[in-house]
Amino acid sequence: MDPLKTKNVSYLKNLDYSVLQQCMHCGMCLPDCPTYVLTGREKNSPRGRIALMRSIADEELDVTKAFGEEMYFCLGCLACTTACPAGVDYTHLFEMARAEAERTGVLRKPKRNFVRWISLRVVFTRPRLLHLAGRLLRVYEVTGLQSVVRKWKLTRLLPSALRELEPMTPTVRRYSSRQLIAPVERPAAEKRYRVGLLTGCVQDLVFSDINRDTADVLLANNCEIVTPRWQPCCGSLHGHNGEWELARELARRTIDQFDVETLDAIITNAAGCGSHLKHYDRLLEDDPAYAGKAKQWSEKLRDISEWLVEIGFRRPEAESDPQTVTYHEACHLCHGQQIRRQPRQLLKSIPGLELRELGEATWCCGSAGVYNITQPDTARELLKRKLAHVVETGADVVATANPGCIIQLQTGARSDQVKIRVEHPVSLLARAYRADSLVSSRDGG
Ligand code: SF4
Ligand code: SF4
Repeated sequence: MDPLKTKNVSYLKNLDYSVLQQCMHCGMCLPDCPTYVLTGREKNSPRGRIALMRSIADEELDVTKAFGEEMYFCLGCLACTTACPAGVDYTHLFEMARAEAERTGVLRKPKRNFVRWISLRVVFTRPRLLHLAGRLLRVYEVTGLQSVVRKWKLTRLLPSALRELEPMTPTVRRYSSRQLIAPVERPAAEKRYRVGLLTGCVQDLVFSDINRDTADVLLANNCEIVTPRWQPCCGSLHGHNGEWELARELARRTIDQFDVETLDAIITNAAGCGSHLKHYDRLLEDDPAYAGKAKQWSEKLRDISEWLVEIGFRRPEAESDPQTVTYHEACHLCHGQQIRRQPRQLLKSIPGLELRELGEATWCCGSAGVYNITQPDTARELLKRKLAHVVETGADVVATANPGCIIQLQTGARSDQVKIRVEHPVSLLARAYRADSLVSSRDGG
């Protein structure tokens, strides 16, 4: 029986029991778990959460509101997976636990139901609708309406959820990736590889310039790029928030956008998406129509820094202005994909760039998907801790490879008046290539 096809079957009870048994209660993950470090409470630790999940699977405990809240207090940062000597698959456990909380409806409330329905089921399943919402947001931002609202403190009139969100609103770019990147782009020099480029959903609205930079860096490294036009959300938001079946559907739709067999790699520049996209094989393993394609997909999926290092990327040569950069490791890159060395290699290759190591570089910044919206107090604590380390480095730029982290750090720097630019490593590399005249100069608006 496929436990994921019916709402009446428990996700936790049908989990391979050996996954739940992996935890040997050693506690080595505790010092690396941000929520445990904040509260010192066992139930807020990986070990405590796994014990709760196991009690439910063993039918010793019912799924309760407190269980659901605990699963949403967890950041899903996956620091515990890096720390764990037993190789506990916390990613899968955490996703199944949240899916269980949603299946049983223990957290149901009218406002929460509405927000989840409109975002996860309506907007983030329809790329054209998401694009339209982005255009409306841009009108709000560029017509001066946003300045008026902020100046006159009109946010007080908004419902509380929107009032808290407003200062975090990222700037929607003038052009989308569809306008900045052609369906197929060929390198000026001889082609070595053919790759598919994922443009993301939020990434496309807010950081289409980073997508353009990614395309430029790939072209400079002799890759032909195929970029499908209306790419759906990859489903990572859904997978991490208990909407397992929707995540499966979005995975199928995403795979359908690409002719996977003809590609050497499929490239993402968003760490949170990459960590999920690499697990399409597991997500669709029991779907006879997609299991094979999903396996091939996962084998070819690469983060941009991982791919560039793998193919022996070209080092930029032209001297450019000196810059000091520190690097914040996005959780889903360092813990979710174990990619730590490659982004640093890209940064260190840039002439004039001094890389200053960041204290607690792998500690979550509090973005964690939508955690900064659902758990604003904890997210703020984590952001404060992160910014203090950033300031200590005295760097001009903090580089990080996830859109959520970029938004979180930009918001924190703005509100604490910290003078620092937040950049994706690939943008810094693209700029260095432009100084080399390896790629043309473009403006993403
Ligand atoms: S995912 Fe992060 S917050 Fe959750 S248990 Fe693991 S280390 Fe703690
Ligand atoms: S480190 Fe791993 S095995 Fe040890 S308590 Fe944490 S999750 Fe369990």
